[in-house]
Amino acid sequence: MKKSIYAFLIFIMCGFTTPLKAVEAEEALPVVILGGGVGALTSSVYLQRAGIQTLVLEGSKPGGAITESPVVQNWPGEVAIDGQTLVDKIRNQAEVNGTTFLSHEAIDVDLSSTPYTITSRDVYDHEQIKKIKAKAVIIALGSTPRFLGVPGESGEKGYWTKGVYSCAVCDGFLYKDKTVAVVGGGDSAVIEAEYLSKIAKKVYLVVRKDHFRSVEIKRKEQLVQKDNVEVLYNTEIDQIMGDGDKVTHLDLSTKKKLPIDGVFLAIGATPNSDLFKGQIALDENGYIQRISDQQTSKEGVFAIGDVVDPVYKQAISAAGDGAKAALQAERYLASIEGEQPASAKPSAQPKIVQIANEEGKAIEVESSDQFYREVKDSSTPLVVDLYSPYCGPCRKLSPIVDEMAEKHKGAIRFIKVNVAEYSAITSEYNVYSVPTILYFKNGELAKQATGLNEAKAALDSIGKD
Ligand code: NDP
Repeated sequence: MKKSIYAFLIFIMCGFTTPLKAVEAEEALPVVILGGGVGALTSSVYLQRAGIQTLVLEGSKPGGAITESPVVQNWPGEVAIDGQTLVDKIRNQAEVNGTTFLSHEAIDVDLSSTPYTITSRDVYDHEQIKKIKAKAVIIALGSTPRFLGVPGESGEKGYWTKGVYSCAVCDGFLYKDKTVAVVGGGDSAVIEAEYLSKIAKKVYLVVRKDHFRSVEIKRKEQLVQKDNVEVLYNTEIDQIMGDGDKVTHLDLSTKKKLPIDGVFLAIGATPNSDLFKGQIALDENGYIQRISDQQTSKEGVFAIGDVVDPVYKQAISAAGDGAKAALQAERYLASIEGEQPASAKPSAQPKIVQIANEEGKAIEVESSDQFYREVKDSSTPLVVDLYSPYCGPCRKLSPIVDEMAEKHKGAIRFIKVNVAEYSAITSEYNVYSVPTILYFKNGELAKQATGLNEAKAALDSIGKD
């Protein structure tokens, strides 16, 4: 089975777990983990296996930063694995052990008294707010990519998502055989450029010093030797220019105008610790300070991964932090009230992955030929769900598409297309963002809707026309 399909099936299986009853009842939970990356998932596996019920608030980017890595080559036991598949495996392990997941993000935290209170909101529907009480909290919120702050990057007249991006894996497919630039000289920049060099005709790496900061020296050396990669040292971007719709070139500090189709930012990150200012100790750069191992300045509050780590910032070090935080949280709970490990019930059996093309389910397209055959077939209407495995709203839409497929079994065909694999289809239908729904009736494109809400509205109207 293709990795992307595997990842997709795991998402269907895992993405929308029923919340804990205790969340609804606002009882204090033993442990709430803020964030859904590798560190958070590792903590939850350890806690569940110790019999401590754990709620993970996954936030808007389940799986965290590593999901953007097309190939991880330094995870123990894996010679090469894409980041999303690695996360899917860990998340599945957490789920099998009984972890509860919620597609919420913390918007406020009150650590002034115990149990601690977390205010969270649904990442897709911001009006859905919950107040969650927790005896112990693990902060695993990671960090946010930095912006250059130059004209043309974002804002009303900027080209953010119209040629300016921060994730090559998410948006690189739009630049097949085109010219792109990657800004930065760290490991992220190397990874982004490496990925883009397999898709784009030409990749410029814009590095502001006369050397890279990257520690993956071998990887960097291999990258710069590629025929379609060119490094511009001692160069900064003064302005990102475009034609109003899309990026056309960069104005560089060297006074050169560099014609490009897209630019990917990879210039580092800021720790996501704002919620905790004034409540726990942070250092001058905003990283959460630790008193001992993962313990923060507040008892029962632990922090792991990139939000505490300005140096290593590796998925594996976040996982190590996650294990330590779980063991510390376990000891803390035992110390406050002899928390019994009977509260969690790890599932005895791993869940079985459902195959998406069962009767009455949307079928995952496995070749362009298959897509065009389905489009050509005008016997029954056809709904196409264009998605990317790395897009949160796509995952929200996916089960809705499956429900519709079940409802219209035999009357309307439903297929799903991973745009990362079939970029020609996106070009043909002028698709610049996902999720996008295409609706074909009598062999003609009758409807096209982009974005979660528009796609849902389009699905709602289908079958009624
Ligand atoms: P880094 O902070 O390591 O690098 C940021 C890069 O962007 C630097 O080259 C920096 O330049 C440059 N930069 C910063 N601001 C600007 C600006 N305004 N204009 C132009 N350039 C700018 O961030 P990374 O995200 O690359 O990596 C963070 C950490 O994560 C590192 O420890 C890295 O090793 C690790 N990592 C490891 C990976 C792995 O698979 N092993 C993958 C990705 C990250 P300058 O050098 O001049 O400051």
